[in-house]
Amino acid sequence: MPDQYAVIGNPIGHSMSPRIHTAFAHQTGQNMNYEALLAPVNAFAAGVDAFHRRGGRGLNVTLPFKGEAFRIATRCSKRAVEAQAVNTLRFDGDAIYGENTDGIGLVNDLMLNLGRTITGQSVLLLGAGGAARGAIGPLLDQKPRQLVLANRSLEKARSLAQSFRGAIDACNYAALAGRCFDLVINATSASLSDELPPLPSGVFATGALAYDMMYGKSDTPFLAFARSEGAAVLADGLGMLVEQAAESFFIWRGLRPDTAPVVKLLRQTADD
Ligand code: NDP
Repeated sequence: MPDQYAVIGNPIGHSMSPRIHTAFAHQTGQNMNYEALLAPVNAFAAGVDAFHRRGGRGLNVTLPFKGEAFRIATRCSKRAVEAQAVNTLRFDGDAIYGENTDGIGLVNDLMLNLGRTITGQSVLLLGAGGAARGAIGPLLDQKPRQLVLANRSLEKARSLAQSFRGAIDACNYAALAGRCFDLVINATSASLSDELPPLPSGVFATGALAYDMMYGKSDTPFLAFARSEGAAVLADGLGMLVEQAAESFFIWRGLRPDTAPVVKLLRQTADD
């Protein structure tokens, strides 16, 4: 019988994870099934438990349950502790190991797929929610020259910066006037509501890369702004999605799938 994996969330119908992991399994010859599980918002732990009891080997966790997944894991990685959120659970007997692969997925997309160096660069991260929190540790591991976190709510940005003990600077959007960055990463949810974070003109340095964690068929307002401001490279978060899945796959199966054909496959279908 194939090993059982799933992604659990609410809503879940839109998730691309079953297609990604099915492609990885096919590519690497792994005998496994991967499904999508809808959990009621107040019954995440029960959903995880039921899946574990029926022999499930591991789960991806998506909105709104990443914080709860961190709390039910019996052992967590350093990255999950930094992020206070878990997107990957692995069942080791009765123990539950929790990891957060979102940030490393972003860094791998930037470095391996987009060919960007983070070391020595000035990086601006927009937003102070779960996605930004998960990205900070893996970005800092690459030793950027500076990492600035900008958020509408300055208090939220400051509190997040404090948990990284002074390694990042927190500010609001107005304080970005007159400053420019090599990498500008949109980790806000503004694109979901077709909005642009209130960025001043001039934040993109010569040769800058603009990265939106959101993905879709056309430019988000952030990417459209970056284009109009002359950013040299634009990228959406589809590569990050596939790279975070590849890290989860490695945690479960000990194998690294080739991500490039899977990104290509998803892009082709999105364009249909
Ligand atoms: P959260 O709800 O935790 O955080 C939302 C953040 O966005 C807050 O900092 C909020 O600011 C900010 N924000 C919302 N609207 C605006 C706006 N109009 N202008 C400026 N800032 C705004 O969301 P997540 O961190 O979980 O997700 C953020 C994004 O990352 C989503 O688009 C999600 O789809 C994407 N994502 C992509 C992944 C991938 O694999 N590609 C993985 C994970 C997330 P404030 O605090 O001031 O309210």
